[in-house]
Amino acid sequence: MANVLTRRRLRVTGTVQGVGYRPFVYRHALALGLAGYVLNDSAGVLIEVEGPVDRVVELTRRLVDDAPPLARVADVATEELHATGAEGFHIVHSDDTGSADVPISIDTATCADCLAEVDDTANRRFGYAFTNCTNCGPRYTIVRSVPYDRPATTMSAFTMCARCQAEYDDPLDRRFHAQPNACADCGPQLSWRPRATDTAVATGSGALEQALDAIVNGQIVAMKGIGGYHLVADATDERAIAELRRRKARDDKPFALMVASLADARTLCELDAAAEAALTSIRRPIVLAPRRPGAGVASGVAPGLPELGVMLPYSPLHHLLLTAARRPLVMTSGNLSDEPIAHDDDDAATRLGPMVDGLLQHDRPIHIRCDDSVVRSTPARLQVLRRSRGYAPERIGLPFTSTRQVLAVGAELKNTISVAKHDWVVPSHHIGDLEHLATYRSFLQAVDHLPRLYGVEPGLIAHDMHPEYLSSKWAADIDLPRLAVQHHHAHVAACMVEHGRVEAVLGIAYDGLGYGPDGSLWGGEMLIADLVTARRVAHLRPVRMPGGTAAIREPWRMGAVWSSLANGNDAALQRATIGGADATTARAVLDLAAHPSSPITTSAGRLFDAVAALLGGRQRVTYEAQAAIELEALARQIPRHQAPRYEGCVTVAACDDDARVLDPSGLVGALLVDLDGGVDRAVIAAGFHEAFGRATAMLAADLAAEHHLDTVAVTGGVFQNSLLSEIVGRQLGELGVDVLQHRTIPPNDGGISIGQAAIAAFS
Ligand code: ZN
Ligand code: ZN
Ligand code: FE
Repeated sequence: MANVLTRRRLRVTGTVQGVGYRPFVYRHALALGLAGYVLNDSAGVLIEVEGPVDRVVELTRRLVDDAPPLARVADVATEELHATGAEGFHIVHSDDTGSADVPISIDTATCADCLAEVDDTANRRFGYAFTNCTNCGPRYTIVRSVPYDRPATTMSAFTMCARCQAEYDDPLDRRFHAQPNACADCGPQLSWRPRATDTAVATGSGALEQALDAIVNGQIVAMKGIGGYHLVADATDERAIAELRRRKARDDKPFALMVASLADARTLCELDAAAEAALTSIRRPIVLAPRRPGAGVASGVAPGLPELGVMLPYSPLHHLLLTAARRPLVMTSGNLSDEPIAHDDDDAATRLGPMVDGLLQHDRPIHIRCDDSVVRSTPARLQVLRRSRGYAPERIGLPFTSTRQVLAVGAELKNTISVAKHDWVVPSHHIGDLEHLATYRSFLQAVDHLPRLYGVEPGLIAHDMHPEYLSSKWAADIDLPRLAVQHHHAHVAACMVEHGRVEAVLGIAYDGLGYGPDGSLWGGEMLIADLVTARRVAHLRPVRMPGGTAAIREPWRMGAVWSSLANGNDAALQRATIGGADATTARAVLDLAAHPSSPITTSAGRLFDAVAALLGGRQRVTYEAQAAIELEALARQIPRHQAPRYEGCVTVAACDDDARVLDPSGLVGALLVDLDGGVDRAVIAAGFHEAFGRATAMLAADLAAEHHLDTVAVTGGVFQNSLLSEIVGRQLGELGVDVLQHRTIPPNDGGISIGQAAIAAFS
């Protein structure tokens, strides 16, 4: 029977265009001696294949199992046809290659084949910084419109030379229809511009040499990469790093590093198998991992922190630079302080020019700014904290099929937007904090670009309930139906999406601040939620934030509030002055803590700030969550089994709004007794994590049982704290509850648009 002739139509869907899928089918069909054709159409790839049944079956298997590296095959649908006696196999060129319904690939790290060419003195691409092929290279960041084709990318200005064109036209070549295909004769070129000069003084490898020379001599260089500009400096040069901090106006926030190889990364960080897999993956995120004792980088790279953020080269330019530099380099986003990363050449010259000693640029425009993604390696798991280059614009499956097309505009900080349709949602790259005008412009570009890229015509706009978020205000001005989604409901929904869940869960959402329907600032919430509604069943004890946002920048203010709740105003005043506040200010802050002008919050993030400040951590922060990050680092010094439990110090009370109240003021009191008794601060910090985490888990498990729910979703920016995540997750598990925790969707506000989109699409 094996040699019975058959003809089948195979419909392949998923990310199968612009990733070398047709030539892959062509090669395998030829090898199997099959007849037929393959083409791209608006739904993906369509194949008709004819030949002996067993070989057709084998081809069908290979379509999934042996797919090219960048392809993501969602489905292969098969239909039996009548054999026609056709001969030969062809790639059919459709006029409309691709459509708005076909996913654009992520930007992908240079493949091994391309790297080998770049390093081969005999190859025509030796030393060429923009080498790429069908299996690697820029995609999302260069796409201006769909269908994905060279004229629709920022490569449109470059005309391929005869040799590149021949590769592009040859179905058996690795560069068949590789849209960014280029070589030194026809493609983008490097240029080097020293400080305060208007024109480039070197191009090509000469430009690279001069930039390298500047870097190894302690200077700071702005370098244009895939998704934007980096500021680059020698990570082993203490003086250069201090100078970089001064010029960038960045006090303590850690800098990311790039090293040439995995072997180099291992000398800096403790890497487990998952961390190494992430580092070397085609996504090439920054991986945060524990720093090795004696790691060979300047102390100013990540002051006072036990982790380093490391990444490997992801473009030939990085590869050439790092190989020649023979040392780790700081690669931090090209911006001043918290501004968005520069990606436009003129903007970079204006904003970065004055901060650097030279600019290493190139003439391939970046259409979409895309920051490096960030993944944290912890003993329990790998957690994506920022989903951007290498992740955007990848589809995430929804656990239901929607009849709506939705645009979700996200939160205010760490903004992302998402579009949803059918059974998928696509989150954008990391857009950032909308309060900056340049970031807001980038948001405007994204809300225009992403729906077009994915053929989404929104019939509903989902936004945060907070009326003052710029994203909410933008939504209010659009003449379309809108859905306001409560912030923590969106967090829980994002966690549900990640786990393919539609049935109700008990959600724990701990974060900095989010707008509550009662007008207060929520952030320590337990909700019974599904993809339609959320009901608050518990929250942290409400307190005032003395002076509003000032209390975010100055954690000692929250410390004063909680110590006053534990031991009264006089003790709190005394403690605040010991902590460094002057008596008048401390008294004013305690007055504000009882004054209606200070907003009420149930934020868990603010509680962590308070405890960090009370334990002698910093009284003022220079970046978001700094105090909490340092508190976690302190607590990590103590093995879990040695941490005090502070059993019974966190209490639960019923409250008039029908929700349970988790009150940690007794715990704060107990911590302060130990602190005054001379107990090691690390031990107290560890005990705080244990006690607060366990109390959280126990209350959540109780509430879940009461409401006949078997699953608890754990979400919110506070759960970037991996120690707290571990304690809460493990304790819930021991209490027999199914636990949903984030891995690939950020627990922070970067995940909000995904949750909003899911809720709107489900409605
Ligand atoms: Zn390649
Ligand atoms: Zn060429
Ligand atoms: Fe949040």
